[in-house]
Amino acid sequence: MRALRLLLTAVFTAALAFPQSSAFDKSSLDPTCKPCNDFWRYTNGGWLDRNPIPDRYPSWGTLSVITEGNRERLRTILESAAKSNALAGSAERKIGDLYASCMDTTAIDARGITPLQHDLARIAAVQTVPQLASLLASLQRTSNIAPVSLRGGQDLKNSKDVIIQIGGGGLSLPDRDYYFKDDPRSKEIREKLLLQIAKMLALLGDTPDTAAASAKTILAFETELAGATMTNVQRRDPYSRYHKMDFAGLAALTPAFDWKPVYAQFNLSESTPINVGEPDYLKKFNAQLSAVPVADWKIWLRWRLIDAAAPSLSKPFVDQDFAFRTVLTGVKEQQPRWQTCVATVDRTLGEALGEVFVQKHFPPEAKRRMNELVENLRATLREELSNAAWLEPATRQAAVAKLNAFVAKIGYPDKFRDYGKVAIDPAKYYENLRAASLNDRLYRLAKIGQPVDRNEWGMTPPTVNAYYSPPMNEIAFPAGILQPPMFDMQADDAMNYGAIGAVIGHEMGHGFDDQGSKFDAEGNLKNWWTAADIEKFNARRDCVIEQFNTMTVGEGLHHNGKLVVGEALGDLGGLTLAYKAWQRSLKGKPAPAAIDGFTPEQRFFLAFARVWGTKYRPESTRLQLNTNPHPLGEFRAIGTLQNMPEFHKAFSCKQGDPMVRPADKQCKLW
Ligand SMILES: [Zn+2]
Repeated sequence: MRALRLLLTAVFTAALAFPQSSAFDKSSLDPTCKPCNDFWRYTNGGWLDRNPIPDRYPSWGTLSVITEGNRERLRTILESAAKSNALAGSAERKIGDLYASCMDTTAIDARGITPLQHDLARIAAVQTVPQLASLLASLQRTSNIAPVSLRGGQDLKNSKDVIIQIGGGGLSLPDRDYYFKDDPRSKEIREKLLLQIAKMLALLGDTPDTAAASAKTILAFETELAGATMTNVQRRDPYSRYHKMDFAGLAALTPAFDWKPVYAQFNLSESTPINVGEPDYLKKFNAQLSAVPVADWKIWLRWRLIDAAAPSLSKPFVDQDFAFRTVLTGVKEQQPRWQTCVATVDRTLGEALGEVFVQKHFPPEAKRRMNELVENLRATLREELSNAAWLEPATRQAAVAKLNAFVAKIGYPDKFRDYGKVAIDPAKYYENLRAASLNDRLYRLAKIGQPVDRNEWGMTPPTVNAYYSPPMNEIAFPAGILQPPMFDMQADDAMNYGAIGAVIGHEMGHGFDDQGSKFDAEGNLKNWWTAADIEKFNARRDCVIEQFNTMTVGEGLHHNGKLVVGEALGDLGGLTLAYKAWQRSLKGKPAPAAIDGFTPEQRFFLAFARVWGTKYRPESTRLQLNTNPHPLGEFRAIGTLQNMPEFHKAFSCKQGDPMVRPADKQCKLW
């Protein structure tokens, strides 16, 4: 559901950091490539050739450049906060102190493993299964390393209620399939994980033999857990994740694990309803409590502790942690420390940092303009839904009602979160992260039994992304993504509709895709489409699944159509809507002139394809294909445009050209 993936002051600051022409930057083109052969390459080839992937990145493109620009701005804010004499306990002091504690690598290196000693001793002290269960319960409070987790979250079938959500976790590899696939690359990753574990344990003082034996124990333990975990395609069906029960039901799933101490430490009532995302996983966790010797559990927990903490510890741990990231993503060099620290503050105290960011870089005029675009897209989608011949009349009405109920969040929350309870010590980086993490856990659990907070955002203001939330029935566009060339106050409408307009349409479309169509206007998981509607929708969906299954990515790789179909449909529907909304906005006005030799229609599609000008390292390509519901940037552009007759017309592409899918195979949503 997390989707994709502006402003006068912002435009100026952006222009300083990354010179952008308000018109399309023609130097990004590859004029030697024909638009109808490969429009992605035509649009981005010049830029891609001049901008190799920096060693510290797994991929690099338009969105990375925006992210990097935001980080520079956040760095300025944080360096100034770190030097300020802001009042103790104030938000400015907290973000400044957290940043300073992260930047102080001398202090972090001097402390070595000290911050973990307490937890390491607790793990070492466990002798019996009840002691193990007790430790796992208390780890819920102090860390996120237990194989099960408890948090607050909306009841999918009654979205007005926040209930207890019990989830999984416990895997060191990015997805359960990594434990089972037999291809050479998957085998190599498992071999390298064994080495990684052994090296990390050696840093804790284990002998090479002990460390190597422990690594095998750990991989075997996780493989058992992975076997009881849903695939990423199964998890896309919200019904598969909905298993509501009471406390007795939860206790019956895990008779070997007592939830009472967990509830007690968070002051939770046993009468609160619970949703268990994956009951089979919980059963496996329960079975492991007795099937796996306590000694092996301790080996695994010790690894989990060090694996989770390593990026925040001294240099040897940071370096070892990075070594495995090079395996998974191909990245060659660590980020400069300041980037790590900016990202850390954004992740842990994000709204305190975001409040300053938007004051400086998101003027009211940008919010007004963005709101206008959103409402134009909404009006267009309303018309589409009202006239969608493939939906039954009653479904059309319900769909329009759902669209009208959409809440659109732009830029930042009306009220910023108060981190008042988090104590930050500029000399204790690791403890600061733990304090922020515990505070966040308590903050979310405190929402149980309370009315849903409509002010809450799922992303921080500087984030370069956007989302649709089915249970909230809302779309959100953080200030971070509303930057050129995604959103440019100085650009003409064709450019803005082609770029951010398509993103708005994408997020709105999620309300009516294979997941969103299962949630009604109140955000409740409910079948509100008829069988005939679903059948016709599925035909549209299957067209896109087939398209992505068969498109060649290179080196014999393909997308998993069933994994990416929601996002690919979002792109197709989104671009179609943006185009129609743009046409609608032109009604009654003189036709816009060509600029730089491109018609307005051509500029619309150039702006769209420019957004997806991203290239990936080979390792990162495979990681994304295996785990990410979003197609690779190149194929978000190509796959979408192959289905768009308006694009074919704008560039005079013909049947038989690679950018044109055969007429009988073109997919269409709206
Ligand atoms: Zn999306």
